[in-house]
Amino acid sequence: MILVTGGAGYIGSHNVLALIEAGYEVVIFDSLEIGHVEFVETLKNIQAKGKVVDFIKGDLQNLSQIKSVFEKYKIDAVVHFAAYSQVAESVKNPQKYYYNNVYGTLNLLNAMLENDVKRIVFSSTAATYGEPVYVPIDEKHPQTPINTYGKTKLMIESIMDDYDNAYGLKSVRLRYFNVAGADSQSRIGEWHDPETHLIPNILKSTFGQGRVFQMFGDDYDTKDGTCVRDYINVEDLALAHVLALKYLENGGETNYFNLGTQNGNSVKEVFSCCEKVTGQNIPVEICPRRQGDPAVLIADNNKAQDVLNWMPQKSLEESVCSSYNWESKLEKIIN
Ligand code: UDP
Repeated sequence: MILVTGGAGYIGSHNVLALIEAGYEVVIFDSLEIGHVEFVETLKNIQAKGKVVDFIKGDLQNLSQIKSVFEKYKIDAVVHFAAYSQVAESVKNPQKYYYNNVYGTLNLLNAMLENDVKRIVFSSTAATYGEPVYVPIDEKHPQTPINTYGKTKLMIESIMDDYDNAYGLKSVRLRYFNVAGADSQSRIGEWHDPETHLIPNILKSTFGQGRVFQMFGDDYDTKDGTCVRDYINVEDLALAHVLALKYLENGGETNYFNLGTQNGNSVKEVFSCCEKVTGQNIPVEICPRRQGDPAVLIADNNKAQDVLNWMPQKSLEESVCSSYNWESKLEKIIN
């Protein structure tokens, strides 16, 4: 049985799908503060290969709640997503982030060690690198995060190194670049409130109600003046977690990998792609730069290719397509 913390959230739920497709049984642990009960229901109804998906509502900040999961199930390994992830909020309210992300993870690791569970795949981030010194960013790039969110994730990576040295706890830390897209069957997708991410925000402006997409800055030192990011499809990303789990099952040592495509797309390019996919002229206004946005972030993903045998398959257009299908469905769920 694999424990997936945060399995009712955007990336976590796609990972649960990938795990059940790969034949694993899963227990989701999620507080549902950010995750969605609708995703849990959808996942529980998918009886892929007759495998079980269970759900426990709980908060990692509550040690007894997470310990009880290990008492109830025989957990073989953990995939850990549960975290707050909004950069601006993390700077305004660091206490909330250190408690939930760092203290919550310490509780999880505590419960793992007590139950002799020694394998964890951890949802880390390109935000641990901070302002890029060079691009594409490989795993040797200095890790000097510039916001609290990135700092919490880097601290956890560091804790995991110490826990390996002292207790033999093996971890794989996956550092995501910009995650995009949705399940190709639109069963689950991106559902944040408030939504801050680029692709859903562009697509939401196609549904009327006076919504205008705000483009944050067109005076960056890039090919067209807008920020360049590496958009990795969420299904490709989910698969990397399954490969990371198998790597640990096969005796792999503690390791860390960038997950991106090695391609950069500007905000304007993503916007054009959304207009193409939706066949609409999307209302847009140019706004000032958003604080803390580096001009360019692109992953070097060679290590994940070489060691995990992972190769992203889906294009930006495929991500925008699946996102649009999901957003159209979500629009009906919400309204
Ligand atoms: N962005 C934008 N309008 C939005 C949301 C994002 O122009 O409504 C820009 C943002 O400034 C950045 C890029 O899109 O340059 C990607 O932002 P996102 O929040 O999706 O991901 P991040 O790079 O912050 O992880």
